[in-house]
Amino acid sequence: MPPTRDLLDFYTNAPLLELGAEADRVRQRLHPNNTVTYIVDRNINYTNVCVADCGFCAFYRRPKDAEGWTLSYEQIGAKIDEAKALGGVQILMQGGHNPYIPFEWYLDLLRYIKTHHPIHVHGFSPSEVDFWAKLYRMDARDVIRELQKAGLDSIPGGGGEILVQRVRDEVAKKKAGADRWLEIMEIAHQEGMKTSVTMMYGIGETLAERLEHLERVREVQARTGGFTAFICWPLQPENTPRMSHMVKTDAVDYLRTVAISRIALQNVPNIQSSWVTMGVKVGQTALRFGCNDFGSLMIEENVVSAANTTHRTTIAEMERLIHDAGFKSARRRQDYSIVAPVAAAVAVAAA
Ligand code: SF4
Repeated sequence: MPPTRDLLDFYTNAPLLELGAEADRVRQRLHPNNTVTYIVDRNINYTNVCVADCGFCAFYRRPKDAEGWTLSYEQIGAKIDEAKALGGVQILMQGGHNPYIPFEWYLDLLRYIKTHHPIHVHGFSPSEVDFWAKLYRMDARDVIRELQKAGLDSIPGGGGEILVQRVRDEVAKKKAGADRWLEIMEIAHQEGMKTSVTMMYGIGETLAERLEHLERVREVQARTGGFTAFICWPLQPENTPRMSHMVKTDAVDYLRTVAISRIALQNVPNIQSSWVTMGVKVGQTALRFGCNDFGSLMIEENVVSAANTTHRTTIAEMERLIHDAGFKSARRRQDYSIVAPVAAAVAVAAA
């Protein structure tokens, strides 16, 4: 980026390919080995009961709704076993803000997982931590310490949306505010935990507010170094309670946003491509717009119920997409350390 140009001007006015080229230069400097990583994990939502009423959420049900559910420990354990059999190295575990679950349930769940189904638990977003701190009248630091002691390994960046209070007041008023969300991340980092950080855009914010979000993340990272990765994706307005009228942002907006994120967040090591929301072609293109990670090959219910073949094909496809984009592929863990080559791991899982 020319030194005279400020970020907002660059984001707003630079030609798409100029933005991409600058982001690609940053990626190459930070990741000179031409490798794109990915992770095999499973997303487990332990409850859909929630009182936060986010305007963009099509997932939750209010308490007492007949369609509300909370998984049992055994159901969660079975999902972990299925994921591990298919080569999964972590679970991403998040849920609604359910006022009927006692804190001990979460601690016992973590102990249960670590005893009977050991795996890396990447779970419980800052919004959940904040909700519990209020509900159980605890200090957020104590909530994190207790979770960590019980087995929580790292914290996902869920619920970040846009970290500008004006925007949050419009779409997620009942959830942790911008300051609080970042405060909880900072506490987690101080307690020795690594976390990821996200941005969901296209919810009524300006480009300047997206940049403010990035700037606030960069400031926390400068103090703690605790963010391992940044992931952004656009609002999916379909079926949401209050945002189905919003126009879905397009691929160009995504590529511009991911590129400016790479340029603005040079102290966050990894940027993930969100092919799950943008489709594989845009996901591949994003690898030339600053992304060095292809995110997660999430093991979903339909994949798990199918034969291992389905999973092998999916992994093969994931690797092919990375190779076709001109990179070497490598499977990673949450901390971005590399695991055994896929062929060997799948052979073990299939045995
Ligand atoms: S906190 Fe918001 S996004 Fe999360 S489950 Fe509840 S309503 Fe949905």
